Amino acid sequence: REPVLEVRDLRTYFYQDGRVNRAIDGVSLALYPGRVLGIVGESGCGKSVTASSVMRLLPDLARIESGEILYRNHGKTVNIASYPSGSDEMRAIRGSEIAMIFQDPIVSLNPVYTVGWQIMEMLRLHRSLTRAQARTRAIELLAEMGIPSPEIRVDEFPHQFSGGMRQRAMIAMAMACEPRVLIADEPTTALDVTIQAQVFELIDRLRRDRDMATMLITHDMGVITEMADDVAVMYMGKVVETGTVADVLASPRHPYTRALLASMPILGRGRRQQLSPIRGATPDAYNRPPGCQFAPRCDSAMPGCVQQPPVTQLSATHDVSCWLYPSTEGNDDD
Ligand code: SF4
Ligand code: MG
Repeated sequence: REPVLEVRDLRTYFYQDGRVNRAIDGVSLALYPGRVLGIVGESGCGKSVTASSVMRLLPDLARIESGEILYRNHGKTVNIASYPSGSDEMRAIRGSEIAMIFQDPIVSLNPVYTVGWQIMEMLRLHRSLTRAQARTRAIELLAEMGIPSPEIRVDEFPHQFSGGMRQRAMIAMAMACEPRVLIADEPTTALDVTIQAQVFELIDRLRRDRDMATMLITHDMGVITEMADDVAVMYMGKVVETGTVADVLASPRHPYTRALLASMPILGRGRRQQLSPIRGATPDAYNRPPGCQFAPRCDSAMPGCVQQPPVTQLSATHDVSCWLYPSTEGNDDD
């Protein structure tokens, strides 16, 4: 199957006081219908900036420098990276074709309007529905998201919802226009473990029922194990390793992926896990080391690592970017 969304060699830079932060520095990703791509890395690695680049919701300091964001819909391909963020084209896609949910529902739910009103607005903006039709649909959506008494809840304000229910209301709004792509940025980080599991279950069901391509952004490898089909490990604006979850978790190759896995408890790995934090800190994004960005923290660093490592294809589905795995001549042929 073809990817619904494909990011190709994307560069998004931030400019501040005459200095440049190459926040996204040559990222390529593909999202397929019905599959979950997990993007994992520490804070500041560029995972949220990747999402805001796709949504064209970047802060004023940031600019897409180069690369493509290809969105395919019914045989037609458009390059979102070429649309001004305020353009009609982008407005038609954002929220309707590509929807996003956040860690904090307050980002997308307005406290001064009822939950139902906000879902209805979304529907009326993108679909030609009457007020009555939109209301009926809003109630259906709340019910589908597992919100009890939706015909009462529809007239309530976000603050009248519990944290988990607010998350469901935000998901209802995101689902209103049947998006083909869902971007979820740390959607459960603020919730307790039980609610977290329920929200993930909901996202997983929607992904399956609607054949929706999902980008799941997280700092937690445990979430990747549970939820994702494919994974891209990001460090300092680059994808350092990517593959199916089976590839990357069963045989992590990049020293950063290994360090990340060793630094956090992973469900199903047994209770006695020896956790070792990653040594050092991420460098100043405005003052980066040359070559491999992980070199200052890497136990395997070699003199050659001052050069940017190429991407090496380990298998049809598994890529790594590290000098420990030099590309063999001619492996581009297959
Ligand atoms: Fe470590 Fe070098 Fe690989 Fe970077 S390229 S992760 S410094 S071995
Ligand atoms: Mg973030």
